[in-house]
Amino acid sequence: MKLKDATLFRQAALVGGEWIEADPANAIKVDNPANGEIIGLVPNLGAAETKTAIAAAEAAQKEWAARTAKERSGILRRWFELMMENQDDLGRILTAEQGKPLPEAKGEIAYGASFIEWFAEEGRRVYGDIIPGHQKDKRILVMKQPIGVVAAITPWNFPNAMITRKAGPAFAAGCAMVLKPASQTPFSAIALAVLAERAGLPKGLFSVLTGSARAIGGEMTASPVVRKLTFTGSTEVGTELYKQSAPTIKKLGLELGGNAPFIVFDDADLDAAVEGALIAKFRNNGQTCVCANRLYVQDGVYDAFAEKLAKAVGSLKTGNGFDEGINLGPLIDEAALNKVEEHVADALSKGGRIVAGGHRHQLGGRFYEATVLADVTPSMAVAKEETFGPVAPLFRFKDEADVIAQANDTEFGLASYFYAKDLARVFRVAEALEYGMVGVNTGLISTAEAPFGGVKLSGLGREGSRYGIEEFTEIKYVCLGGV
Ligand code: ADP
Repeated sequence: MKLKDATLFRQAALVGGEWIEADPANAIKVDNPANGEIIGLVPNLGAAETKTAIAAAEAAQKEWAARTAKERSGILRRWFELMMENQDDLGRILTAEQGKPLPEAKGEIAYGASFIEWFAEEGRRVYGDIIPGHQKDKRILVMKQPIGVVAAITPWNFPNAMITRKAGPAFAAGCAMVLKPASQTPFSAIALAVLAERAGLPKGLFSVLTGSARAIGGEMTASPVVRKLTFTGSTEVGTELYKQSAPTIKKLGLELGGNAPFIVFDDADLDAAVEGALIAKFRNNGQTCVCANRLYVQDGVYDAFAEKLAKAVGSLKTGNGFDEGINLGPLIDEAALNKVEEHVADALSKGGRIVAGGHRHQLGGRFYEATVLADVTPSMAVAKEETFGPVAPLFRFKDEADVIAQANDTEFGLASYFYAKDLARVFRVAEALEYGMVGVNTGLISTAEAPFGGVKLSGLGREGSRYGIEEFTEIKYVCLGGV
């Protein structure tokens, strides 16, 4: 991997302000999903190092919280600028370990950096309240204070941005953070730590621990010092972490799985809906928790939409993310590829029809063709589970009430999308969808300014926006008497 600044690619973890180099005898190998080549090693750390990191975080946090919000903001601002100055290198590291096309990876760096920028600004506006007292001589003061030491566990699909939208608000609010990135994509996290040091984040405030998820997660959840756990990943692991956090009554932020419906009504602008579907379904090769998983198309436009979508999907280019003009990279691993294959086979065995793709890609490895399936029904696996791959299943529906019932018939509630023009319908459907987020006439909803998060089994709390920083604060009420 050619980088302008080779020091950003570091085969080491940052534990309580000290770098621990990977020892080849006990290291995690990280590969490039496009070709399986090993790109580097990271240390295989566990409970002991997690303890060290938490202790260092506890000490650093006090001094950090005592600084002015403006001082913290300045350091975060510098971190943001360093990310943007190194956007090319950070993008390269990301593509090498995650597989997404380089322009998309650089886009993620800008998106990830935007959370640091946003929270550098929001951190100066964590306002309290003064409430008129309940007795003549009393005043009620409400202050918002940092929650303290935060543990974060992040996934591989956005190796940069899933970290920054937790770290940005945490540091801005005056917290410390101990992070465990996904073992498939640790180098993006490590590069962020290198830049955080350069930006002037105090020693010990931010640790990046690579290694055993169970051991590190176990220590994070058991520790009474850790006051908040913020996790993005599967509902399965989220449930486990929720249980593990119960004895210490931690505050939880959980961004879990989704099963996003994408609804196209008869009155929709079909070309815009196709464009939106391409983004909502195929971005990151279908590997995002807000990816459209079920596309419901109204009877009157079903065939036209299927034809237009198949044509658009046919022009997407799959390949190594470092090559020019690539739209879709590989899937992250063999298990992901198998799941996609199973979902397609299941749909076909129950009467589904391939309109585009439908097979492993001729490139071999972890590549799968961009796929559109028609005649999909609720009994198929694609209706119930997140496929997390480049497969767009098209369901047919007749009326609004029916599609809302189908769209809500899931245990998940993260993102949803629909295309329609009738204003009354837009309000009705937006209100009726049981989701944390609704995209109307757009397939792209994530941004630092907006509250991202889900309901039901999709999680707890919101990331981004002015609400995102509140998740890292505690409210303290001071009753001032004798006035
Ligand atoms: P994904 O489907 O995105 O791979 P996972 O929930 O399996 O989602 O993983 C997301 C993150 O959670 C990763 O960093 C992974 O290492 C971590 N993880 C997995 N299992 C556990 C666990 N038992 N305890 C703590 N962290 C875990």
